Amino acid sequence: MPKIAVYPGSFDPATYGHLDIIKRSLEIFDKVIVAVIRHPHKEPLFTLQERVKMLKVATKDLKNVKVDSFEGLLVNYVKSQKTNIIIRGLRAISDFEYELQMVLMNRRLNNSIETIFLMPEEHYSYLSSSLVKEIVFSGGKASKFVPPVVEEALHRKFSVDKSGRSW
Ligand code: ADP
Repeated sequence: MPKIAVYPGSFDPATYGHLDIIKRSLEIFDKVIVAVIRHPHKEPLFTLQERVKMLKVATKDLKNVKVDSFEGLLVNYVKSQKTNIIIRGLRAISDFEYELQMVLMNRRLNNSIETIFLMPEEHYSYLSSSLVKEIVFSGGKASKFVPPVVEEALHRKFSVDKSGRSW
């Protein structure tokens, strides 16, 4: 049986930190499903289709990665993919409390699900999608933080939307 893991997230947008976690996961699992969440109550900068498409381009050279999307309960999605493993990235202590809450809640919902945490390369540990959006919105360059497809999309998005929204 191939070992499959699901790496869920908003990926709004994907950064090199996310890609670092995907590559580390591929060292452990035969297949990694990157699962973009459709949040019913959160308005992302990029549509679900845009987020999926950018991840597909960014991971096109990685074997054994599938990019998918889902809505509803993560534990149900994970089961539907015939696995019980969730991957999450852990950057700093500040991630810990939220992640612990999620693990414990998911365990309540389905006791057979396990979450594995991976830590990125040190220089990605301060990187977040929100920070990247702020940098580009404020006129900075993000090429060190995001793949070219994402950087282009950010510049396109902000050149048509300078309405001063906050994330
Ligand atoms: P979510 O809204 O689910 O937290 P994100 O796209 O922000 O979605 O993050 C998805 C996962 O990737 C989370 O586990 C998060 O901790 C992790 N992650 C985000 N940025 C980084 C990074 N720079 N390095 C490592 N992991 C990261």
